[in-house]
Amino acid sequence: MSRLIVVSNRVAPIKGKTSAGGLAVAVLSALRESGGIWFGWSGEVVQTAAVEPTVVKVGRITYALADLTSDDHNEYYNGFANRTLWPLFHYRLDLTAFDRRCFDGYLRVNDRLARQLVPLVGEDDLIWVHDYHLIPFGEALARHGCRAPVGFFLHIPFPASEVLVALPYHQELLRTLFAYDLVGFQTDGDLRAFHDYVEREVGGSVDPDGTVRAFGRTTRAGTFPIGIDTDDFAALPAKAEVQRQIKRLKSSMGDRQLVIGVDRLDYTKGLVERLQAFEQMLETYPAMRGAVSLLQIAPPTRGEVPEYADIRRALEAVAGHINGRFAEFDWVPIRYLNKSFSRRALAGLFRGSRVGMVTPLRDGMNLVAKEYVAAQDPDDPGVLVLSQFSGAARQLDAALIVNPYDSVGVAESLHLALTMPIEERIERWAALMEGLRRDDVAAWRNTYLDALRRYSAAA
Ligand code: UDP
Repeated sequence: MSRLIVVSNRVAPIKGKTSAGGLAVAVLSALRESGGIWFGWSGEVVQTAAVEPTVVKVGRITYALADLTSDDHNEYYNGFANRTLWPLFHYRLDLTAFDRRCFDGYLRVNDRLARQLVPLVGEDDLIWVHDYHLIPFGEALARHGCRAPVGFFLHIPFPASEVLVALPYHQELLRTLFAYDLVGFQTDGDLRAFHDYVEREVGGSVDPDGTVRAFGRTTRAGTFPIGIDTDDFAALPAKAEVQRQIKRLKSSMGDRQLVIGVDRLDYTKGLVERLQAFEQMLETYPAMRGAVSLLQIAPPTRGEVPEYADIRRALEAVAGHINGRFAEFDWVPIRYLNKSFSRRALAGLFRGSRVGMVTPLRDGMNLVAKEYVAAQDPDDPGVLVLSQFSGAARQLDAALIVNPYDSVGVAESLHLALTMPIEERIERWAALMEGLRRDDVAAWRNTYLDALRRYSAAA
């Protein structure tokens, strides 16, 4: 079997705490099983980037790490990836920066990273490139003489073409996708948007077998919704230290219910809207005052991007306002924590919460939604309230699906979740869990890599 090379912007810390991020969590479990190379940015910003990556072998995984200069970091990472592609692909044109210099930096870094990887690639290797930071990476690999099969997977949404074409260099960027043997998306909606872009904007075509033709090139495109390591996650709450933590949580709550939200502090996650819907629920259902709290965990990310300081301020203001309005000396409606937790600790917090609120305004998949379900007690499971704009909603249809912009509707669903009879909770949870067991992270990886092997052999 061919060796796997995974390429992603960040590589999970080699030792110690697993980094917070859906991509890292999923890729790590994929590589641990098959062995191979994980290539990406070391996380270091240096004055002069080394010509060769630093190579470290840990168990079955060889990590190859490249540094960035501060220009690279500003233009490629903070600039084009996180101030242009991230907001644009999440439908936030109002927050999107258009800066040709950053786009050039993004192309330059992709080119340099690809050049650094090429000498490490063996004849039978299979290369799997991840996410929006690295869209042109496959084309850069080919430019540097790499002939191995290369696939790409987009973890974030692919936007409607009306939004995408606001990017002045959309064609220059999108044509690079056609250097891949396979382009994978999270949902059918993303795939449809890609097809629509190809057919309407650039005069390409889509064959019934999934072949996509444009820019005088062809690729294959398909849908591969990412999963979690369901059984492993479901086993976490039984661990002794997690049991102790759940006990502590429960004793801090007394006979009150807990609603939990866990999200990077990002404007796509609908955090302000979520808190407002919680406020709406307290307003509409006074019996809930003093009876339920929202525990919102929101570790800060991308601190150098100004829009993230704005969302942090907005969230602090709304949390302060709601607590000021409703809190009693022995109860606060919102417990807002600005730090990250290990997945093990999260599993305990999920298990101790009657409702999981996952209400992004736009999200490629959302792994927290899946983890919340996996962590529940089968005999007394909690209820998932899930945004219709998350990729996860396409699979988790036994959750209470909500429109995060509709605070009255979310408040009603939240109330429904908090008062749902146990029979219905069990029924919904069992349906969700069946899907999560079937479509787990191993199924995702296998389906994707099988397709990549098939298509590259046929090419
Ligand atoms: N996560 C974590 N600690 C935290 C917050 C999040 O380990 O304090 C993990 C979480 O368990 C999940 C991932 O980070 O596996 C977040 O993935 P998701 O798809 O929900 O969102 P993303 O951050 O990738 O947009």
